[in-house]
Amino acid sequence: MSVIVPPTEKTRGRLLWGPESSSPLTDEAQHLERWRRRTWQLHASVLLSHLYAFGLFLGHSWAGYAPLQAVLLYGLWVGLGMAFITWAYASGWSRSRRDPGLFLVHQLLSVTGVLGLLIAAPQVAFQALVMLLVFSTDGFLARRRTSFWMTWGGTLIAVVVIIAWLGPQMRMTTDTRAGQALAIGVMFGAVVRCSILVTYFRSMQYRLSASNEKLAVALTQIEELVRRDDLTGVANRRGIIERLQQGIETAQRDGSALCVALLDIDYFKQVNDRYGHDGGDQVLRAFGQLLSSQLRSVDCVGRYGGEEFLLVLPGTTLGQAQMLLERIRQHTESLPWSQMLHPDLHVTCTLGAARYRPGEALQALVSRADAAMYRGKQAGRNRVVLDER
Ligand code: GH3
Ligand code: MG
Ligand code: MG
Repeated sequence: MSVIVPPTEKTRGRLLWGPESSSPLTDEAQHLERWRRRTWQLHASVLLSHLYAFGLFLGHSWAGYAPLQAVLLYGLWVGLGMAFITWAYASGWSRSRRDPGLFLVHQLLSVTGVLGLLIAAPQVAFQALVMLLVFSTDGFLARRRTSFWMTWGGTLIAVVVIIAWLGPQMRMTTDTRAGQALAIGVMFGAVVRCSILVTYFRSMQYRLSASNEKLAVALTQIEELVRRDDLTGVANRRGIIERLQQGIETAQRDGSALCVALLDIDYFKQVNDRYGHDGGDQVLRAFGQLLSSQLRSVDCVGRYGGEEFLLVLPGTTLGQAQMLLERIRQHTESLPWSQMLHPDLHVTCTLGAARYRPGEALQALVSRADAAMYRGKQAGRNRVVLDER
């Protein structure tokens, strides 16, 4: 019967959910707007079911199965309750409650109304009991399992007591044509009500799986962003270290070769000093592209520090690494840098490489490549140095 929604934050709900909130809607405001629409839709559908049920009870009274007074009292009770819930939604009062959809109020109203009628007019027990079952399917919309079990545990106990007490007076109303029509009406209403609920659950399930798919895509994108360097487009430190860790595990497992290389742009500080930080960034970007274009698909490059890059070269011996790094060094030197920023711009880099030794720690391997690179700097830069120990 109602109106059960993922909990919304009450304070924000109050702020954004005023009847006149027509300012550009944020995502959250749109969510609240949807929630409000759904709440009203469900409320309207519950109201219709009550009207239908009331009509049937009136019919039972007309056909002589139930005292009119009892039916009218039932109508008054449910009518007042529904009027209260309508007011609570419209005034915004319900939003300050722990259960803003007023599920429990809806449930209690229906259950007490039907139980009251069951006592006052046990001759219409068939309709009353079917309605109780239909209301119990609404219980699946409860926000908390305890609300569901409290309502329906209580109802079941009440039904047992009433059946034991008034059982002999309870009737199927199928002894006359009118009574048969009414019984069919009861079954028809129950089937329609349940199928509406099933449709509602299906659409909820569909929306949930659609938003789950969106979330999965967003998560993949975030994971990729977390491992990518914004400036150069290659992996960042986290990304390349992860790749190196994987490379080490593979090399350790199957005994294959693995080389790493550290690569540092020479005199980069001067590039910044002469052509500004933006000029330096431009060089870094071009350098990142150059590295990506020179590597094989199994290799990986990442920005290790400011103008320092780490290369991971799986299945590569030191001799093969030397050829690859020499090619990168030559390409760096011969890239038409002068057309990029300034006719005087020349960029070179120094590279140091080391081969993984079985059992060696990741940081020790990188340190050996770093030491080789440092020796290259000391020896005059723009060269490839291997750690051959
Ligand atoms: P060496 O040949 O010994 O490597 O000299 P170098 O000038 O390249 O070395 P140093 O490490 O002293 O300078 C690196 C410079 O890189 C200093 C820093 O300002 C600059 N840098 C670091 N990150 C960035 C960046 O993201 N953008 C720019 N434009 N510059 C950066
Ligand atoms: Mg440098
Ligand atoms: Mg450096």
